[in-house]
Amino acid sequence: MRMKEEAFALIKEQLARLMALDGGFYQKKFAGIDISAIQSQEDFEKLPFTNKDELREAYPLGLAAVPEEEIVRIHSSSGTTGTPIIIPYTKKDVSDWAYLFKRCYETAGITSRDRIQVTPGYGLWTAGIGFQTGAELLGAMVVPMGPGNTDKQIRMMMDLKSTVLCATSSYALLLAEEIAKRGVGDQIHLKKGVIGSERWGEKMRRRIAAELGVQLYDIYGLTEVYGPGIAMSCDYECGMHYWDDFVYFEIINPHTGELVPDGEVGELVITTLRKEGAPLIRYRTHDLTRFLPGDCACGCPFPRIDTLIGRTDDMVKVKGVNIYPGQIDDVLKEVKGASSEYQVMIDHLYGKDIMTLFFETEPGVDKEEVGREMQNIFKLRVGLTILTKPVSIGELPRSEKKSTRIFDNRY
Ligand code: ZN
Repeated sequence: MRMKEEAFALIKEQLARLMALDGGFYQKKFAGIDISAIQSQEDFEKLPFTNKDELREAYPLGLAAVPEEEIVRIHSSSGTTGTPIIIPYTKKDVSDWAYLFKRCYETAGITSRDRIQVTPGYGLWTAGIGFQTGAELLGAMVVPMGPGNTDKQIRMMMDLKSTVLCATSSYALLLAEEIAKRGVGDQIHLKKGVIGSERWGEKMRRRIAAELGVQLYDIYGLTEVYGPGIAMSCDYECGMHYWDDFVYFEIINPHTGELVPDGEVGELVITTLRKEGAPLIRYRTHDLTRFLPGDCACGCPFPRIDTLIGRTDDMVKVKGVNIYPGQIDDVLKEVKGASSEYQVMIDHLYGKDIMTLFFETEPGVDKEEVGREMQNIFKLRVGLTILTKPVSIGELPRSEKKSTRIFDNRY
């Protein structure tokens, strides 16, 4: 993708500001690099990447690029391991984020007449508050539930006639199943679901959409770059539009760091164009996606990336074959009688790697047969012989948080 002139100008301006900041994160990181020599996109692409570990090392406030009195809020990445990442926000960062989030809702056709039930968490994490401030800026009515308490969620959904559900895919599925189980589907007024924060397969999407009777939209973002709200799918469900007036996207080969040709899958790298509190230059997201060519039928002028295919750290190598969750979803989609939920165990037994795929099957199917079919199609599509363990719907764990589906027990 060619960088727009406006984006290049903003990046140049930002680099000059960051390099002038004594003791600042990028002044240290880019020490010895002549920023004034960056005259083209190609020059920019020679700058080193920024990694998650460097952001951790800057804990607690080493990323701050403005005087302390300008920082109005911090958020922190959920970081399951070790030191968290702290991202400082200025007033403008907070209002820019709300503005982008409002644009996401509008892309999904959500208006001030909607009632938006927000189930992602509030607190250090960016999710809940982002969904809320964007909805308020839009003028919609927010029902700020946060996660959990399924009884109350469903009651509020019925009594307040929520029209939009914001949730992770696993929590949306849990709510959909609960609503079906209680037989209260006819008292639910939902029209749209905005689903963020984890990748999900086509089958899961279809189940949630069918059980809730809604159209689903993907929202993308990460705490390091505002939070959710920097990309959003539209009615046409063909990838996600991203806001290239605020963020600059590159897609690289995660092994070599080279840009991949447009349209090929690789790791998304983000440069912020307007952030003040903690701007990031060429930040490696570890999310796998690709640029989608051409214009979208919806008429939205913003470019698109594909729905996330997985994360570079979810990629596992079994017997020399790279496997990521997107492939498993694709195989599940192909196998008749297989449902959307799965878990993968990878073990090292008797001197070799063994991959076992547990997956849920539709009621009434011959499990053994579906298991064999799964084995055949997996071999055909991915090139690896695996063990398959078909189970009944509801046997695999559901979670209100991001769910882990691939367990590598080899190390
Ligand atoms: Zn579109």
